[in-house]
Order: sequence, then structure tokens, then C-alpha cells
Amino acid sequence: MALSFSISATIFPPNQEESKFNNRKTAKGIENARNLVKTSRVLSLATSPHESLQKGNWVKLICGASFEDVVDIRNLSMVYTLAGVDCIDCAADAAVVSAVNEGIDAAMEVVELRRPWVMISVNDDDDLHFRKAEFDPDDCPMDCSRPCELVCPANAIKLDDHSGVITERCYGCGRCFPVCPYDKISFLQLAGGTNAHTADGLRKEGLFQTTLENSNDVRSVLASPSSAFIGGVAYGGYARKIVGRVLSSMPSQQGPSSIEDHPELLVEALGLALGLVGTVKCYHPVHHSSFR
Ligand code: SF4
Ligand code: SF4
Repeated sequence: MALSFSISATIFPPNQEESKFNNRKTAKGIENARNLVKTSRVLSLATSPHESLQKGNWVKLICGASFEDVVDIRNLSMVYTLAGVDCIDCAADAAVVSAVNEGIDAAMEVVELRRPWVMISVNDDDDLHFRKAEFDPDDCPMDCSRPCELVCPANAIKLDDHSGVITERCYGCGRCFPVCPYDKISFLQLAGGTNAHTADGLRKEGLFQTTLENSNDVRSVLASPSSAFIGGVAYGGYARKIVGRVLSSMPSQQGPSSIEDHPELLVEALGLALGLVGTVKCYHPVHHSSFR
């Protein structure tokens, strides 16, 4: 289980006078990143983390309890802060927490956004509680001896009344999965395993915000808490991978490297982050290549 707690949620507006973006090429890249954020409508759609939870469009970047590459963490935090995440989850290590805050501060220098929460995760063996078994009991053959019901240690499967999996009881142990002779059981990943299709998948299951019918009406749909059965989505390995590819193409050099020193890469990474976070926040889709 990962235990998490939040340590920061303060707004620190950037001080333009102290901006460090003096180099003309870097300044142009920063301007492009700022325009990409504004054109995607992040500023108007990224509400306070608390409000996002209530609306059901909260997004967390999981750096992870065991990920301690402080350079990548700093740059990931900057990129995903610009993309409007509500929270950044990281390891319980002072250097890692500083790297996250440094990345957030760097993003604040690019554009004045509300500050995401910083959440510290402590690793406690395997995280199983992020998945839930699911199957349609009406799909089960009548003559099945119901081994799933017998094997479940949480009494989370009830077939007599056609309940199937009682979600509140299921803690994702996986015992039921191999015993089903008809492969009827699957798992809904609620955190680990999330990717660009997660928000749409949850919407199709009726678990997430109402599907948008009119992209001009984004704000009114998001403002409807009645459609939010899930508070938000946490992105881990997938979020790190898509931006990490860009980070790994930064020229290797002595000492720590900041992504804003490579303006084209910052814009590219930001475009990818906006694409992912935007599946939840419903950002206005803008291709990052227009800002290079
Ligand atoms: S995953 Fe475990 S707790 Fe959940 S229904 Fe299957 S056996 Fe029960
Ligand atoms: S074992 Fe499989 S087929 Fe049988 S009742 Fe359970 S889920 Fe349905």
C-alpha cells in the first residue's frame, strides 16, 4: 500500500523582474510554452486542486515512491505543472521533494498558474488496492460451480442476487482471476496502468464526467458534479514515459540539465503532457508544432 500525504498548496506568483530567461533563444521558447498553455485554455480550466476533486477532473502525476532521479523529477514536475496537474506524488526523500518544488517554481516563472499539491508516498509492498475485479454475472454459465465466490477472501463476490463483484469490498488481490474456467473476470485499473485511454474508458463505463457533446460547452459540463463518480485520474508510468522520451533526448552535459534550457524540447514535452492531462481536463486541443 502507498501511504500519501500532502505538504504544499500555496500560490507563489512569478516575479517577472527576477526572470532568469535572459537568453533570446530560451526566452522565445519560454514564450512559445506560455502561449501553448494559454491557447490550450489551461489557465481557465485548471481550477484549484480541491475544486478539481469536487468536479471529478483532478489529475495527479505519480513520480512514485521509488523513483528518485531528481533531474527527471524536477523536469517532469515543471512540464506537468504547466500542463495543469493538481498534484504531484513523489518519494519520501528530501532531495526528491526539493526537486518537485523546484520544477513547480520553474513552471511558475513561465506562467502564473495555481500551484499543485505535493504528495509524499511511502512504499509499503505491492499496491493492490488500485484495481478492482469486474465481470457481468449474467454472462456466467448457469452450471458454473462458482469457484470465484469460494476463493474470494473478502466476500466481495455475490452471485445469488446477481451482484457480481461488490466493488467496495474488492481489494484487487487477484485470486478470483485464475480460477474462473470461462475467463469472465477482468480488472479495472484505477491508478497503476492508466494511460491516454483511461478517461475515455471510464466515461464509457459511466464512471466519469459526462461525455462532451459540444466542445464549446466544456466549462458547463465540468461544472456538473453530479456526473463525477470518480474524483480524478492518477498517471504514473505512462506519464513519465511519454515525457521521459523527450527528456532523454536532451543533450548530455555536465551537471543537472533544465528542460527550459532546450526550448523546443520543452514545447514538445509540454504538448505531450497537455494531450494526456487534457483527456481529463478537456483542454482545447492544440498541436505543439505550431509553437516551435
Ligand atoms: S480480486 Fe480478490 S477481493 Fe476482488 S473479487 Fe477477486 S478475489 Fe475478491
Ligand atoms: S467462476 Fe467465472 S463463470 Fe463462474 S461464476 Fe465466477 S466469474 Fe462467473
